[in-house]
Amino acid sequence: MNQSKEIIRLKKNTRNTLLLLVTMLLLASWLRFVMPKSVKLERESYKLGTVVRLTVYGTDEAILEKTANDVMEEITRYENIFSVNIPTSEISKINDTPQTNVRVSTETVDAITDSLKFAEETDGMFDPTIGPIVRLWRIGTEYARVPEKEEIDKALSYVDYKEVSVKGNMVRTGEKQKLDLGGIAKGWITDRLTEKLKKDGIHSALIDLGGNIAVIGKAPKGPTWRLGLQHPNKSRGEYFAVVNAMNTSVVTSGPYERFFEKNNVRYHHIFDPFSGYPANSDLASVTIVSKNSGQADALCTALFVMGQKKSLEFLDAHKDIQAVLVAKDAKKVFLTAGLKNSITIKDTSMTVEVIGDFKN
Ligand code: ADP
Ligand code: MG
Repeated sequence: MNQSKEIIRLKKNTRNTLLLLVTMLLLASWLRFVMPKSVKLERESYKLGTVVRLTVYGTDEAILEKTANDVMEEITRYENIFSVNIPTSEISKINDTPQTNVRVSTETVDAITDSLKFAEETDGMFDPTIGPIVRLWRIGTEYARVPEKEEIDKALSYVDYKEVSVKGNMVRTGEKQKLDLGGIAKGWITDRLTEKLKKDGIHSALIDLGGNIAVIGKAPKGPTWRLGLQHPNKSRGEYFAVVNAMNTSVVTSGPYERFFEKNNVRYHHIFDPFSGYPANSDLASVTIVSKNSGQADALCTALFVMGQKKSLEFLDAHKDIQAVLVAKDAKKVFLTAGLKNSITIKDTSMTVEVIGDFKN
């Protein structure tokens, strides 16, 4: 009697489990049917003198297509107002009419104002009037050359961000200054694109303007994005570290990006505004992690020029800045304490020093 009761209970249990399983399966297939599928859209183009890439995630392919088109158009629009290589750009207009108030767009005013702020903050190590020096060396073009010392000294006497004034929408340079926003434009544009994507309701995206990276929201396999930092002495795509990033920007400056060689000497595109020569830095690369990509772009250029000692002093005085410095021999890495938990150094031959960490 007891045994048959037991058998009935067992059968009931099996039936319940089966029922639950079927319900769960039905629910899962229903959810898959009603929940929108995640779509990824990638776009790549040559703009701003480099390869720009956009990766956006969403659920509506048509919306993502439009977003990507808008972003690419926006980059071209910015290139057309900022580029020194486009004679009709607003920057060219300012450069062509010295000692004159030139009316420009609010965007140009903003970018110049930011660049002057970073010039001030870095004691001129970042200088947006580096134009005469850039023009002389022509690094990155087929006309790259090593100028004579006299030419360099002459061009150098024209480099002075303090000679640039901004009043309302009017920008005025001194007699010989030439603006060049090459050290900040990609970061500054990245910030505008980030704002635009967020406004358009994009919750997950990666903007890459020639290595000037910003990420929005969660990564598809997230929550954080894993961004590799280029090894300064190894081939492209070989990383020495990985940064876990979320809603932030990661920008690196290094002499390996653009250079030419003459008589076995390598001349790169990051200039020392006090010598007029490519910065003879004892750093191999500088990475800045910041929500403000314009700041990251300008500061990594500036810290590279400063070199190790001055960069460490700068970071000590600006504790809110998060940076990764790689020494010239790529044997040592300096990390600011704020990055300690979000970075993994992959190259085991590098020794790591955390700076600004009181527990250390
Ligand atoms: P990349 O363009 O490779 O990302 P950077 O952000 O360091 O590298 O910018 C280098 C560009 O910035 C140069 O091509 C030049 O236009 C400009 N530049 C070079 N040296 C300086 C400097 N000391 N201050 C401001 N701008 C600079
Ligand atoms: Mg820069």
